[in-house]
Amino acid sequence: MKINQNYDNLVPNYLFADVARKTNEYIAAHPDKNVIRMGIGDVTLPLAPVVVDALKKGSDDLAAKETFKGYPDYEGYDFVRDAIAGYYKTFGVSVDPSEILVTDGAKGDSANLSEIFSTDSVVLVTDPVYPVYVDSNIMAGRKILYAASGEENGFCAMPDPAVHADLIYLCSPNNPTGAAYNYNQLKAWVDYANANDAVIIYDAAYEHFIADDSPRSIFAVEGARTCAIELCSLSKTAGFTGTRAGYTVIPKELVRDGKNIYDLWYRRLSTKYNGVSWPVQCAVAAVFSEEGLKQIDENINYYRRNAKVIADTFDRLGIWYTGGKNSPYIWIRCPGGMGSWEFFDYLLDNAQVVGTPGEGFGSCGKGFFRFTSFSSYENTVEAMKRIEALLTK
Ligand code: PLP
Repeated sequence: MKINQNYDNLVPNYLFADVARKTNEYIAAHPDKNVIRMGIGDVTLPLAPVVVDALKKGSDDLAAKETFKGYPDYEGYDFVRDAIAGYYKTFGVSVDPSEILVTDGAKGDSANLSEIFSTDSVVLVTDPVYPVYVDSNIMAGRKILYAASGEENGFCAMPDPAVHADLIYLCSPNNPTGAAYNYNQLKAWVDYANANDAVIIYDAAYEHFIADDSPRSIFAVEGARTCAIELCSLSKTAGFTGTRAGYTVIPKELVRDGKNIYDLWYRRLSTKYNGVSWPVQCAVAAVFSEEGLKQIDENINYYRRNAKVIADTFDRLGIWYTGGKNSPYIWIRCPGGMGSWEFFDYLLDNAQVVGTPGEGFGSCGKGFFRFTSFSSYENTVEAMKRIEALLTK
């Protein structure tokens, strides 16, 4: 027998392994140094109290015969879908609860959604890119095109009308660059997708960080209902990286090749998946309650304050960056024309600060570097103090 030969086409990505190896080697050689990690992509604050209460109450329900729950509905319980639709209303976007499917997170959804499209669909991703979009499509044997981004477009890649694509992955606010599309930029993508009979898979995992009038959802954009699927995650919104929950929104009018896309995704979910557990779905509904939204905002504001400390530092240093305002990520141009890994080594050796080399996210990331705001406030302040002292020496 043969394995799926497409796996041979995966390019090994050693980014985080190399970051960890170099950091650990440095720590082993310099046990007296205090190394600060400013590259972490995981959240560090605990779940909000209302969420913990809902998880506990949901678990208690499972302990009694009268309230026990078995297999959930594939698409999620109605009260959870209602809560998510209510959340969309808070930023002025109308989606029907029946268009929402509750899942275990956006990473799996972003990889699995492509299964409902033909393997000869042409995929378009932006560069730099969240690696899952690329690798999941390589595994399926699809052709992948890249839309370049850089300083010239503020790392907001735009469509090229001369290029045809069938499946388009957009992530805004973006991981890794922190850049967020404005309305007109997203409208250009929506128009491009409708003109090409394409579908946009829109990853809104960081929408809750948006602080200006950038769209929080692609469905804020006119025309998106006929060309877009939105996926979102509670990982960064509410600290669910370990708890696991997300959702997809698929408008009922999204049809391709004569087929309703919601129905296909439902078919796929119900075939390969048995839904999200009762305590976790209770926790999701708690996040989107009035009190829940207040409490998760406290955590988001903590990360925002860290992001501002980082952004202010690079403002003072006169270093170009994107992100920080609408995103937990700050993406800087490496100072002095240094390469991504060169800057990594320089920072580790001279300031004992660890970040993420941008070139690990694609060729357009060469010469760029990502910081995250998920560290503690104290460590963020200390790391930025060290970097400022080093770069003004
Ligand atoms: N999408 C993007 C753009 C991300 O950066 C991440 C996490 O880093 C995810 C999705 C993962 O989401 P989840 O934890 O819900 O699987």
